[in-house]
Amino acid sequence: MTYPNTQLFIDGQWQDAQDGRSLAVHNPANGQEIGRVAHAGRADLDRALVAAQKGFETWRDMAPAERSKIMRRAAALMRERADAIGRLVTQEQGKPLIEAKGEALAAADIIEWFAEEGFRVYGRLVPSRGSLALRQMVIKDPVGPVAAFTPWNFPINQVVRKVGAALAAGCSMLVKAPEETPAGPAALIQAFADAGIPPGVLGLVYGNPAEISSYLIPHPTIRKITFTGSTPVGKQLAGLAGQHMKRVTMELGGHAPVIVCEDADIALAVKCAGAAKFRNAGQVCISPTRFLVHESIRGDFEAAMVAHAQKLKVGDGLAEGTQMGPLANPRRLTAMAEFTKDAVERGAKVLHGGERIGDAGNFWQPTILSDVPLEAKVFNDEPFGPMAAIRSFSNLEEAIAEANRLSFGLAGYGFTRSLKNADLLSRRVEVGMMWINMPAMPSAEMPFGGIKDSGYGSEGGPEALEAYLNVRSVAVMNV
Ligand code: NAD
Repeated sequence: MTYPNTQLFIDGQWQDAQDGRSLAVHNPANGQEIGRVAHAGRADLDRALVAAQKGFETWRDMAPAERSKIMRRAAALMRERADAIGRLVTQEQGKPLIEAKGEALAAADIIEWFAEEGFRVYGRLVPSRGSLALRQMVIKDPVGPVAAFTPWNFPINQVVRKVGAALAAGCSMLVKAPEETPAGPAALIQAFADAGIPPGVLGLVYGNPAEISSYLIPHPTIRKITFTGSTPVGKQLAGLAGQHMKRVTMELGGHAPVIVCEDADIALAVKCAGAAKFRNAGQVCISPTRFLVHESIRGDFEAAMVAHAQKLKVGDGLAEGTQMGPLANPRRLTAMAEFTKDAVERGAKVLHGGERIGDAGNFWQPTILSDVPLEAKVFNDEPFGPMAAIRSFSNLEEAIAEANRLSFGLAGYGFTRSLKNADLLSRRVEVGMMWINMPAMPSAEMPFGGIKDSGYGSEGGPEALEAYLNVRSVAVMNV
């Protein structure tokens, strides 16, 4: 299976970096170099910025129906090409093919939803306090060219949530996609190019993330920043955007609590949270992490989680039947070893896993830790890997207080058969997204985003479009 080299997409053309620089791309299942990605320099960014401004002026002035048609064509192409695109993503990112193909198909759904939602950028007519000849209008306009920064865990999905909303609102977007997983984002942009998106409306660059963000964020052409990644980097970029008064959406890290009440259906909890924990090898911002289990059912829950982990087939994502692939990069392997060592030194028990698998590729065993002390690193920092950390609780108030202890506030999960408990969890757990008695089910039509240190703004629902719109008041006296 061939894996392409990835170029920059500037002003409607695929091109190498002007100075010819490129970076290696590796397959995390075996560590081998599989291709290269162009590394943009200042001259490339300058051309991309000029194109983004020109693209914005074209796209802004197109009717929503025309924009919608192009977006729908791109969605159809993503659906047609999902298998081939999935194979690229598995090779560069590691996730099982079924998940990678699913990501391409989900992208099609997201683009289609935003293609429809673009028809509903409504303003308002507000009655005047005085003369009826006064027409007061509230008008919504696209903010302008947007700079987007996306990470490697969902190479397509992280881009398409931003691109879909921006295009529906009438913005152009220059995407700085992840150097480690460049072919997935390029395939998405290619679908838009083949669908007929005008030059400059979408741009795609790779390079040194800090150099690119520090140049694009203050640049006068860029009117909005959207970033997905870790909280420390997000705070740094939001600070820079603040200095230049740029609009910002931040989708940052999480540390999802999973509260399993004494009246929970244990099998359901393990099926939902267990599957979610090891999906994409745990490299998911909404991945369940702190398992808080009522003391009366803890033994049964732990035994079921271990049985679930034992059955998982770990291997190369392209191999038939693989359920969990390698970690996306060697940094995550180092992190898993550190999280495990720290937890064990502080008194946690390893119920399953806790070791690297083999010495080729970034494979880590599905890991389940029990009796994890609150001070353990895994109970405080985002593990971003296949690691479930379990503690017991004796009353629900205590579990909710623990859920809210950290500064993260992205996703949370609850399992209970009681309406009263479900209501309490939905009101009191401080997260942007709460799923009760079910796995996470993000969709284009529901808001997606965090609160507290997990960021602000939303990447789903009508709220996602609002983030790309300016609201203006216009009053006309009909003389
Ligand atoms: P990292 O913090 O260095 O990078 C995270 C992402 O931010 C990467 O895509 C990177 O290219 C980008 N980035 C880093 N510095 C940047 C800068 N100055 N300007 C613009 N972009 C910048 O860490 P990493 O090792 O790549 O990932 C590890 C951590 O990142 C994880 O532990 C997790 O907390 C977080 N992460 C979160 C998500 C998410 O979906 N929210 C996705 C990937 C990584």
